[in-house]
Amino acid sequence: MTAASLALSERSVPRYTSYPTAPHFSAEIGAKEAGEWLAELSPSAGLSLYLHVPFCPAICTYCGCHTKALRQDAPLTAYKETLLREIELVSAATRARHVRSIHWGGGTPSMLGPSRFREVARTLGEYFDLDADVEHAIELDPRLVDEALVEALLESGVNRVSLGVQDFNPHVQKASGRDQPYEAVERCVALLRSGGLSAINFDLMYGLPQQSVDDVIRTARLAAGLAPSRLAVFGYAHVPWFAVHQRLIDSAALAGANERLAQAAAVRETLESEGFEAIGLDHFSRPHDMLAVAARAGRLHRNFQGYTTDDADALIGLGVSSIGRLPQGYLGNIGDTGNWRRAIEAERLPISRGLAFSGEDVVRGEIIERLMCDFAVDFGAVAKAHFYREDAFDDAKPRLAPLIDEGLAELNGRRLAITDYGRPFVRLAAAAFDAYLEAKAARHSVAV
Ligand code: SF4
Repeated sequence: MTAASLALSERSVPRYTSYPTAPHFSAEIGAKEAGEWLAELSPSAGLSLYLHVPFCPAICTYCGCHTKALRQDAPLTAYKETLLREIELVSAATRARHVRSIHWGGGTPSMLGPSRFREVARTLGEYFDLDADVEHAIELDPRLVDEALVEALLESGVNRVSLGVQDFNPHVQKASGRDQPYEAVERCVALLRSGGLSAINFDLMYGLPQQSVDDVIRTARLAAGLAPSRLAVFGYAHVPWFAVHQRLIDSAALAGANERLAQAAAVRETLESEGFEAIGLDHFSRPHDMLAVAARAGRLHRNFQGYTTDDADALIGLGVSSIGRLPQGYLGNIGDTGNWRRAIEAERLPISRGLAFSGEDVVRGEIIERLMCDFAVDFGAVAKAHFYREDAFDDAKPRLAPLIDEGLAELNGRRLAITDYGRPFVRLAAAAFDAYLEAKAARHSVAV
C-alpha cells in the first residue's frame, strides 16, 4: 500500500448508515414535526419498527452503543410500561398500520426477560397489522440465552437473531472486557436451532485491542464452522470522546491502519473461502441468502442496522435514543430515560432532535446509499432522475481525485466505480458527496 492510500485510510469519516448523518440532527425538529410527519403517512405505507432497549448486565469496554449497566429488575418493568405507552402514542399519531419488519436492538433487548418481551411484542400486534411474513429480528448476547427466552422469542414471532460474537480468542476478549467462551456461542446456536430458529447472524469485529491477523482468521473459521446464515464484520471504532468506557482501552494495544486493513482482508478471504459472499462493505452471507440476492440485483439498502433488504416507506424508532426515518426526514428520540418517560407520560411524542430533508439531501443520500451498497453509482443519472441538472453534484469530483489517483476508484463521465482494491475505502468516496462534512466538523471513526 502506498503512503497516500495509508493516509486516506486514517481519515475520519462517517459510516453512512444515514445521510445526513446523526451529528447534523438538530433540536429544531421535535414532537410537533414528528406528529405532522406521522399524520402525513399514507394508510398503505409499509412500516419498519425499531425498538431500543438501553440496558446490559455489564458494559464491554469496546462498546459504542447507547446503553448502561443494570442489575435490578424494577427499571426494566418501568421501561417496558413506557414502551407500551409509546407504541400506543405513535399508533394514534398515524394511519399507517402495515408493518413489514421489526428489529430489536440495544443494549441487550433480551434483558427485558421472557414475560416483558412477550407483552411488548403482543402490544405491537394489537396496535399494528404485522405482515404474515414480517421479518422479526433481535440482537442477542449468546451468554444470556436460555430455553425460556427461546420459547418467548418463538411465541412472539421472532424469526431472525443476531449474536454478538466479536472474537473467539481469550486474550482479545480479556482486552475488550467481554468474557465469552466459544462454548457459550456453540451452546446458544444449538439451543436456537433446536427451538426452530435457523436464521442466525453473527457480528464479528476486527481492530480490537491485542487482536492480530491470526486471531481474526481463527475467529472467522470457528464462526463459519457454526454455519450462521449471515455475518457482519465491523471495524472497532475507537471514539473515547463519545464512548467514555473506551478510555479503559489502551490505545497502544490497537492496530494501526496497515494492520486494520490486513485484518479486514484476512476476514474477508477466510469467509469467502468458507463459501460466504461479501455484501457491501462489511456483511457476508451464503450466495442464495436474500441479502446476497438483493445485492446482486442492486436492491440492497443501508440503514442504522447496516445492510438490509428492508425497503419500507418509513422506519419508526421506539425506545430511548432510537432513530426513525420518515419520508420527510429523521426523528431522534430523547436519549435520557427519565426525560423520555416524562414526555410519554405527558402524551407527547418523545422526539428531541431530527432533520427535515431538503431536496438535495434526498439525492445526495441516494447517491451515497447506492455507493455504499453497490460500490458504483452514476451520479449524473441519479441527479437527472430527481430533476436536477446532470452536473449538479460535480462538486464531488475534486474530492474524488485522490481516490482515483490511488487506483481506489474509477470515473467514467459521471459513473463512479470503486475498484476491488478500493472497496475498504468506499466511505471516503461517499464522503465526497457529503455536503455537511466540511460545513460542520464532527469527529468520526477512521475510514477503514
Ligand atoms: S457491546 Fe453489546 S453487550 Fe456489550 S455493552 Fe455494548 S450493547 Fe451491551
